[in-house]
Amino acid sequence: MRVAMIGSGYVGLVSGACFADFGHQVTCVDTDAAKIGQLKAGRMPIYEPGLEELVRSNARAGRLAFTIDIAEGMKGADAVFIAVGTPSRRGDGHADLSYVYAAARDIARNLEGFTVVVTKSTVPVGTGDEVERLIRETNPAADVAVASNPEFLREGAAIGDFKRPDRIVIGIQDPRARGVLEELYRPLFLNQAPILVTSRRTAELIKYAANAFLAVKITFINEMADLCEKVGGNVQEVARGIGLDKRIGPKFLNAGPGYGGSCFPKDTLALIKTAEDHDSPVRIVEAAVRANDLRKRAMGRKVIAAMGGEVRGRTIAILGLTFKPETDDMRDAPSIAIIQTLQDAGARIVAYDPEGMEQARHVLSGVDYRVDAYGAVAGADAMVLVTEWDEFRALDLARVRKLLRAPVVVDLRNIYRPEEMARHGFHYHSVGR
Ligand code: NAD
Repeated sequence: MRVAMIGSGYVGLVSGACFADFGHQVTCVDTDAAKIGQLKAGRMPIYEPGLEELVRSNARAGRLAFTIDIAEGMKGADAVFIAVGTPSRRGDGHADLSYVYAAARDIARNLEGFTVVVTKSTVPVGTGDEVERLIRETNPAADVAVASNPEFLREGAAIGDFKRPDRIVIGIQDPRARGVLEELYRPLFLNQAPILVTSRRTAELIKYAANAFLAVKITFINEMADLCEKVGGNVQEVARGIGLDKRIGPKFLNAGPGYGGSCFPKDTLALIKTAEDHDSPVRIVEAAVRANDLRKRAMGRKVIAAMGGEVRGRTIAILGLTFKPETDDMRDAPSIAIIQTLQDAGARIVAYDPEGMEQARHVLSGVDYRVDAYGAVAGADAMVLVTEWDEFRALDLARVRKLLRAPVVVDLRNIYRPEEMARHGFHYHSVGR
């Protein structure tokens, strides 16, 4: 089948490359000429494990192409996916749908023959209706079926998630869309990935419900961590103790500095706004958002307390800046609020991240970047672990101890063992233990 992917960011590029790898003919379109130029030259605009090889091999095989010209990209397409960004609208927290609607109008002008237009971007309930209306208004002669196919991939594990999904959700109004989407995903049916076919509105809501539930789960264990610290419990054992219950499950029960990233913060806010608009508030999600927002600065204060309550003029080494390991994505990373809190209190920040420093430069100011973890901790008054990249798990702790000016370590991801840290002579603080 021929596929056009409108928007070639994390989701569009990964989805496009994976569809090509299934054997489909894919063209990824983007309005960002620099991004398309890079992709044509075989360079990845994002860091995602395995992506470069996947893109190169499928481009070489002639199944994956890139263009800024939507007319060229859509030529003969059976399905056109909308995979553009849906950030929070400045000021009110609603999803900003301007990119989706612009893409819908561009698509409408270039439709030829029957085409399925599929929204893969995360969009509020009812967006599919508006996309369909815009397409019919722009091109009344168009023969389209507008479907919803939300994406659940995780950055850092995106290719595996796309190729071995827990489920595929397809929301349709026009039954003709079903056959096209089933044909596109056929390689996954052969792997027996469950497919849920539902209405377009239900599919749109499933995506928000999933992200909001996961955000609530993380926030819940974070509050249990705080309680553990007050009452002398161990949150990792609490998590294991509840996670073994199959009704609860063990995933997303790692206490930490609060969730961030390109999805949970904006999607929880957008769901709250949709629910308010329909006079059906989601109070649990509202509480999670508020708790999570407060938590990030609280983590900054936790570091200050670990350093004796005064950080003015002192140097703090931050290890890990991205919102999670194996990505260079800095969108809403907890490190941003934590570093801001420490800078507000007068601290000097040195930092190291294996992949995220280039993106970090756009969102952080006054930070000194180092080429590795040891360079960051050298001469610092404390080391703060914010993102649990694997290379930090295997640090030479004796060397870290020698390099640090003061032996303070704050581990916001619980990756070190308290006994071992004590043996090395660190004043070690973690989360909920
Ligand atoms: P992104 O910002 O990385 O990429 C979006 C791309 O769309 C950009 O390259 C931009 O230049 C391009 N674009 C914008 N308007 C365009 C237009 N009219 N025509 C062509 N290209 C256009 O965003 P992302 O992280 O890939 O997210 C895309 C959507 O997928 C969002 O709705 C997001 O919520 C959702 N999603 C993201 C993830 C994730 O892990 N990043 C996971 C699941 C769902």
